[in-house]
Amino acid sequence: MVDRLALIGVGLIGSSIARRARQDGLAAEIVATARSRETRETVAHLGLADRVTETAAEAVEGADLVILCTPVGAFGAVAREIGPHLAPGAILTDVGSVKQTVIDDVSPFVPEGVHLIPGHPVAGTENSGPEAGFPDLFEDRWCIVTPPEGADAAATDRLVAFWQALGSKTEVMDARHHDLVLAITSHVPHLIAYNIVGTAADLETVTQSEVIKFSAGGFRDFTRIAASDPTMWRDIFLNNKDAVLEMLGRFTEDLTALQRAIRWGDGDTLFNLFTRTRAIRREVIDAGQETPAPDFGRPHGKG
Ligand code: NAP
Repeated sequence: MVDRLALIGVGLIGSSIARRARQDGLAAEIVATARSRETRETVAHLGLADRVTETAAEAVEGADLVILCTPVGAFGAVAREIGPHLAPGAILTDVGSVKQTVIDDVSPFVPEGVHLIPGHPVAGTENSGPEAGFPDLFEDRWCIVTPPEGADAAATDRLVAFWQALGSKTEVMDARHHDLVLAITSHVPHLIAYNIVGTAADLETVTQSEVIKFSAGGFRDFTRIAASDPTMWRDIFLNNKDAVLEMLGRFTEDLTALQRAIRWGDGDTLFNLFTRTRAIRREVIDAGQETPAPDFGRPHGKG
């Protein structure tokens, strides 16, 4: 499917691509690089690539598919480094959680004849690093591909086929629309989780040990999201500013309405919303995006 696959950054996402590509023979050769020597050594030790190079420029030489798997904030600098070394006809893509800034930051460094086709696998966990990946990470998850205007249709089709081979369901979408959708489905929920865990940690009238001891309620589920990688999420908010601020505005208005309903004892408003939201969870489960098992399928076995 691919002659030489180059992975720039080998953390959770990059190593999952490598594992699946290796398992299913999707690339004749995999070349990988990472920022630190430690990660490069781990990648070599885990056998995730045929070759591990010290620099991104070396990694992309002769590659027909190059995937940027670093945090979004690093894409511009990486693109500047690899631009002159990209092979004619190569597809340059990424896995970043934000899409319009990829086009803005990367395209100035893409030479004629190289196809920039950004992508975003909507799959992940709160764990990072090359050891955190696994080959089934993308199975039945969506990968959104966002070709810029005028992008080569055949290159887009090749990338879509690659993600399908990794196990994903695929959708082609405009980059700005992607950023709006993900702002409400992923970015704002993460911000809320970071905020509520931060608020609880800062409370003076409830001790930290009580927060942790009695966290079996909703708080515990927020801590999972709030444990996500700080660098990755900082970069997401800095790079999806407009869409996140727009969705946050809507969220704050709705929160104020709920605050008013509580203050005025307006039970109907609360009940009606909670009924609607329960139905949405049902739809998420029916769409195969969540398990119907109680407590998110957490094991509660005896001893
Ligand atoms: P990760 O596990 O933290 O791995 C990041 C990789 O990028 C590491 O190899 C790291 O090298 C390298 N790197 C970090 N900063 C760099 C820099 N400034 N220059 C060059 N290389 C750098 O991250 P991840 O979870 O795989 O996420 C990677 C990308 O996937 C991000 O853009 C993220 O938005 C996107 N994404 C993540 C998820 C998720 O749930 N995690 C889901 C979908 C998409 P060192 O180890 O040497 O520092």
